Amino acid sequence: MTTDSMPKQDIFLLKLGEVVLKGQNRHSFEDKLVNNVRRRLKGCGSFQVYIRQSTIYVEPTMENCDMEAAFAACRQVFGVVAVARAAPCEKTVAAIVETAKTYLADAFATAHSFKVESKRADKTFHLNSIQLSQEVGGELAETFPNITVDVHNPDLTVYVEIREKYAYVHTPAVPGAGGLPIGMGGRAVSLLSGGLDSPVSSWMMARRGVELEMVHFVSPPYTSPQAQEKVLELARLLTGWCGRMMVHIIPFTHIQEEIRKNCPEEYFTLIMRRFMMRLAQAVAQRCKAGALITGESLGQVASQTMLALGTTDDVCQIPVLRPLIGMDKVEIIRMARQIGTYDTSILPYEDCCTVFTPRHPCTRPKLEDVRAAEAALDVDALVAEAMEGRQWVWVKPGDAPRI
Ligand code: ATP
Ligand code: MG
Repeated sequence: MTTDSMPKQDIFLLKLGEVVLKGQNRHSFEDKLVNNVRRRLKGCGSFQVYIRQSTIYVEPTMENCDMEAAFAACRQVFGVVAVARAAPCEKTVAAIVETAKTYLADAFATAHSFKVESKRADKTFHLNSIQLSQEVGGELAETFPNITVDVHNPDLTVYVEIREKYAYVHTPAVPGAGGLPIGMGGRAVSLLSGGLDSPVSSWMMARRGVELEMVHFVSPPYTSPQAQEKVLELARLLTGWCGRMMVHIIPFTHIQEEIRKNCPEEYFTLIMRRFMMRLAQAVAQRCKAGALITGESLGQVASQTMLALGTTDDVCQIPVLRPLIGMDKVEIIRMARQIGTYDTSILPYEDCCTVFTPRHPCTRPKLEDVRAAEAALDVDALVAEAMEGRQWVWVKPGDAPRI
């Protein structure tokens, strides 16, 4: 049935989500998305990527492409709601039926009803799309007598496409990452700790099209090099979804020691968090980011009560996005598993937040009291010194695991 000129490899079809709804902006969204797909397929081989009628076509141009890795990469691109594989065959009804029978054998084994939907990009093909659907549907109905044709609400839709060189039969689509293409939502600085929450909050904002730069605070010798590697590994896991990103590593030891020496213990955490926000803003200014992102969830710990959040927002001039604010821990854990960060997050390394935790943190702080307690410190000098010590690391999707 197949000839030497037949492509041996499947192609992928990526269905766009909200992107198609964006009216006049649609073209820039689509261009962004196509570029993001191209960039993420680097390392999987050579592919042709183009868009037709709200579908992105991904076609291997060489025999040795890593199709499994490429399929997985496409599923992680934000802006894509569903991904299907399509098998190429000759442009004849017999070949299309044969391909559907073998390629969709598993789907036919479980479905009770089906329909065929055809698209004819090659208008010179001798059947129009309705005739083609009828012919292919008729033959498949004879092959699978236990399955009925149902054009309104079928269990299985067999998609057939007649393109320039070949016909294609699609498998059922699997879900993609959804959301909006990275880069369409602006840029933000995400505060990344080694915990469960902040990788999830970062992921949620990235899914809304936000390009991320990460900030991580380290307190050597209280925090170890392994704790830092764990955070870089979390960032690496996120690059599968976000593409390459920069992680800013900011020394925090002196600030914490100064707070411990000079401020009342019940305010340690709150003052420390105000410093984190100031430093993250300083990074945001450098990289022209419009917001900060944290993994805070209302009431989860003493520093995440409404009043406590107010004392940290007090030092922020740009919006602080907290996508987990209304989520339960079980929901956050479920998401961490889904996005692939859970196993790394639960590795037992210390975070600078856990180094000087007060025995009795204040849960109902008064803003004036926190400001007064902080007045014992030379805030500007401490911020400037920490920024001086800032280092940065590029983390890329192809990097080797760090731990
Ligand atoms: P997580 O699981 O993300 O660590 P958490 O519930 O443990 O969150 P905290 O430790 O109080 O909460 O931190 C709240 C938020 O502050 C984190 O979600 C993160 O955005 C930020 N954060 C905490 N520690 C650090 C750190 N060392 N570097 C960068 N950001 C941090
Ligand atoms: Mg934490």
